[in-house]
Amino acid sequence: MTSLPMKSKFILPDGMTYLDGNSLGPLPAHASDRLTDMVNNQWGAHLIKGWNLDDWMGQPARVGDRIAKLLGAMPGTVMMGDTLSIKVYQALSAALQMRPSRKVILSDSGNFPSDLYMAEGLIAHLNAGHELRVVAPEGVAEAMTPEVAAVMLTQVDYRTGRMHDMMQITQTAHEAGAVMIWDLAHSAGAVPVDLTATGCEFAVGCTYKYLNGGPGAPAFIYTRADLIDEIQPALSGWLGHDAPFAFEPSYRPGPGVERLRVGTPPVLQMAVLEAALDIWDDVDMHALRQKSMALCDLFIDEVMARCPMLTLVSPRDATQRGSQVSFGFEHGYAAMQAVIAQDVIGDFRAPNIMRFGITPLYIDEADILHAASVIEDVITNRLWDDPKFQKTSRVT
Ligand SMILES: *Cc1c(COP(=O)(O)O)cnc(C)c1O
Repeated sequence: MTSLPMKSKFILPDGMTYLDGNSLGPLPAHASDRLTDMVNNQWGAHLIKGWNLDDWMGQPARVGDRIAKLLGAMPGTVMMGDTLSIKVYQALSAALQMRPSRKVILSDSGNFPSDLYMAEGLIAHLNAGHELRVVAPEGVAEAMTPEVAAVMLTQVDYRTGRMHDMMQITQTAHEAGAVMIWDLAHSAGAVPVDLTATGCEFAVGCTYKYLNGGPGAPAFIYTRADLIDEIQPALSGWLGHDAPFAFEPSYRPGPGVERLRVGTPPVLQMAVLEAALDIWDDVDMHALRQKSMALCDLFIDEVMARCPMLTLVSPRDATQRGSQVSFGFEHGYAAMQAVIAQDVIGDFRAPNIMRFGITPLYIDEADILHAASVIEDVITNRLWDDPKFQKTSRVT
């Protein structure tokens, strides 16, 4: 195991303090060579033969097994492809099929909007009387009534970093007869996860956040081993077919988790992800978690001491928090632009949240102290109060 941080494994621009790895991880140092090699020596040299010769066809399951290892899942339970929103749809549609007499999808108001939007779209499309019920995160357990077919939650709240107890909630969902779906977008590579132990039916997540797979890196879907052969995929694409190259007129689901494939995988993008996963081979998730909690605590202590105008919206107790820290501030958007102008990169989430991802792979105590002093400068000297920081960009 390599000790943390391992900054040399990443390309980090000089002078930049990057606290946004919860949204888009940095470029792994060996990724561009890997990609160039693949482009020239596989695609360029082999063209169509690459599907067999370089096993592009096996890549989604091969990478899925590496993700499975990181999440405490068994080999053959994780498939890669598409975007997280698509994987949410696949998991939800399968879950509803498993509980045909129940009509409620239960989620919470801390969930990421795309997950809720996908549920809305699926419900409208099914047109079978389903309902999306969204409750406060603290009220999830009580809301697990007998009409709930599926409980769909994101473990770590993207705005506040508040973390659900996966073991306990999954158990409660199962006692209520519901199917449990976890979104691990802000958990994978951030906190230790033991999917097998939770017993949840499904989990989904993306790979461009803490896992550093690059913008547009494919998402993953996990299905509990005993259920895989029963799932009837809603997105019945040819590469999830039992015999894609038999070109049969009708769909038959493929073996095991292969059925959760849809169409042609993003081979080049996944080569970058494979390079990013090399780094994770040397990471002890529990050591990473200890470091993450210590860095987050330090950041909170420093910022709260220097900037009384900010309110901590993340849990103060590290065990209740993922790997990010968020502060509420009335002028949060402009303040974050002013912080970014000093090369400390965080982001803003509506309505008023300044969000900072704390990633111990490449962030250390000195980075935390530097970021805190920049935030102090921006807040106490009202640097945010400049028209140039008020202009809203398309991506915040
Ligand atoms: C980041 C994130 C998404 C994004 O979905 P994409 O389809 O990858 O754009 C969805 N859900 C959650 C919970 C997220 O954190």
